[in-house]
Amino acid sequence: MTGRRRFVIVGAGVAGATAAATLREEGFDGEVLLVGDEPHLPYERPPLSKAWLGETAPEIDVHPAPFYAEQSIELVSETRATGLDVAARRVTLGGSTIDYDALLIATGGLARRLPGVSGDRVHHLRTRADADALRERLVPGERLVVLGAGFIGCEVAATARGRGVDVTVLEMAGAPMERVLGAELGALYAGIHRAAGVDLRCGVRVESVQESGAGLLVHTDGDTVECSALLVAAGLVRDTEVWAAAGIPCDQGVLVDAGCRTAVPGVFAAGDVVAHDHPRYGRTRVEHHDTAVRQGAVAARAMLGGDVAYDMPNWFWSDQYVHTLQSCGAPADADELVVRGNVAEASFVRFGLRGGQVVSVLGLGRPAEVMAGRKLLLAGHPVTAEQLRDESVDLRRVMRPARA
Ligand SMILES: Cc1cc2nc3c(=O)[nH]c(=O)nc-3n(C[C@H](O)[C@H](O)[C@H](O)COP(=O)(O)OP(=O)(O)OC[C@H]3O[C@@H](n4cnc5c(N)ncnc54)[C@H](O)[C@@H]3O)c2cc1C
Repeated sequence: MTGRRRFVIVGAGVAGATAAATLREEGFDGEVLLVGDEPHLPYERPPLSKAWLGETAPEIDVHPAPFYAEQSIELVSETRATGLDVAARRVTLGGSTIDYDALLIATGGLARRLPGVSGDRVHHLRTRADADALRERLVPGERLVVLGAGFIGCEVAATARGRGVDVTVLEMAGAPMERVLGAELGALYAGIHRAAGVDLRCGVRVESVQESGAGLLVHTDGDTVECSALLVAAGLVRDTEVWAAAGIPCDQGVLVDAGCRTAVPGVFAAGDVVAHDHPRYGRTRVEHHDTAVRQGAVAARAMLGGDVAYDMPNWFWSDQYVHTLQSCGAPADADELVVRGNVAEASFVRFGLRGGQVVSVLGLGRPAEVMAGRKLLLAGHPVTAEQLRDESVDLRRVMRPARA
């Protein structure tokens, strides 16, 4: 290839859109192609299980429409990458092929489907189109079954209750979001959902789903639940077939080093699609907005030859009813967990401490203290369990002592 360099980004979600913008911020003046298979401008997915399902749609575009032309980013919509020749540095987009100097894979993931569970009344939630279809079901009188009490299932249950829908949640584990939050916080959330009128059934395995007249029958290992709509919220699948077939090492995600580089020269990957080698946590597969944004920026700098790494502690949030959960870092890293506030009252921050430093922060309903804890974590500032536990200690001042 001669002339201007061409960087192709496959996947027009937040990771891809951030990478494109970062290339320009860093002064790259070659061609930037941002290719996505959806018909929309790149958008943010977190609202899809929350405000987007309500009556007034929030703004969700990552950048306003004129941004792409202003930045000379060629946005190619409704086009799928279906093949890749890494030796020739050529990617197949729709029916044609295009050469690249560097390629970024930012294709996110797909909502997991269950074999034999399909039809008009069966919903999944990954895309804007999925959310638009689900919204039609969220009206009083509908009976929604949510299969899976992970974050997306729980958020939709909360939103649906807010819209007057009758909701049953079926979960295999002992409590909602237990895999990430653990049993104690899972039990707290079970109480929150039940108090809001959700029929939450844990320790339940769904065996089959059957159409019946105007609805569905969901058969579990102990019971049958009737509903008018089913949301299968059973997690994310990383679709790596095209990339693995091209010889890029994949293992439940595209394998990348700390700087979002694959093992193949000129090919990078970022966001939900990757299995990332995090300098602190080792090989991780993260499905959070903030990680996708930051990895998109790191990948762009790596494409430009930068010596970069995504080494931030993972950060995510979840909104359910009036409760906002925020989490930073990895509790598994901690030697000691310290609680400030009251878990039973859903007003607390739980800090993970190791060697006198904060390694994780998880809070419910306490955004200012979570932010202060996050700053302590990022700075690696020394702090004691007593300071963290004592509500009379202003955590913002631990790093910035009051003037005498
Ligand atoms: C309903 C919902 C709620 C969420 N809520 C939260 C939250 O509260 N907090 C939080 O931290 N995170 C949340 N997340 C997770 C967050 O949205 C994701 O981590 C983030 O969207 C990942 O961004 P990405 O750019 O890697 O992938 P995506 O956003 O999935 O973008 C990838 C894009 O690539 C396209 N694509 C795939 N294959 C191809 C191909 N072969 N060719 C061309 N295009 C392709 C896809 O269609 C998609 O448009 C939520 C996710 C969902 C679905």
